[in-house]
Amino acid sequence: MQTIAENLNQVHARMQAACTACGRAPGSVKLLAVSKTMPADALRQAHAAGQMAFGENYIQEAVDKMRSLADLPLEWHCIGPIQSNKSKLVAENFAWVHSIDRLKIAQRLAQQRPANLPPLQVCLQVNVDGGNNKAGIAPSELLALARAVSVLPQLRLRGLMTLPEPAADFATACAVHRQARLLFESLQAEGFEVDTLSMGMTADLEAAVQEGSTLLRVGTAIFGAR
Ligand SMILES: *Cc1c(COP(=O)(O)O)cnc(C)c1O
Repeated sequence: MQTIAENLNQVHARMQAACTACGRAPGSVKLLAVSKTMPADALRQAHAAGQMAFGENYIQEAVDKMRSLADLPLEWHCIGPIQSNKSKLVAENFAWVHSIDRLKIAQRLAQQRPANLPPLQVCLQVNVDGGNNKAGIAPSELLALARAVSVLPQLRLRGLMTLPEPAADFATACAVHRQARLLFESLQAEGFEVDTLSMGMTADLEAAVQEGSTLLRVGTAIFGAR
């Protein structure tokens, strides 16, 4: 069995190779360690190996880990669906939210974000591959939601997040990620100052890098199978 530190080294090597393959600067892609279902000690090991940003899907589980790891200067990202009754916990405890797919949730987060904390950094989740019964707004709804979210107090719109179905091959993965990049660029063309395209996981990080991801969300390759 490899250690978490060794796994992280391998993921960074994959990221570097992917950047080189498409001529991107290695520093232009960041790594979010997706630690859902992993014990606090696994996150502590990842931090000891240099990892600072962690993504969590289940709010209560995440807040419990934050308490166990309060001695570390970690950056917490919420990447899972948010029920209304959990929005306050999110607003009070996370630095980032990737999974905004309803104005109502954004409004609650804006209202509940404590005034003494920096604005919550948010991405809008877009369903680029049209996968049914999945979270995320349709691409056609993106511009309206971006306009509404960008004017809310205590939130800062940073970009988009996508969670496509596993693709059959590299070319298919690239085609889906390209849709996300075009949407991201359309927001920039509309004047939104967005800088974050959150896409790519363990299986498809190379395709995501090729198509312009700025933030990879990787779980399995760092922590092992869940
Ligand atoms: C679990 C999860 C990931 C990480 O997936 P891996 O395949 O384990 O790398 C990324 N993003 C979201 C939203 C997830 O739920």
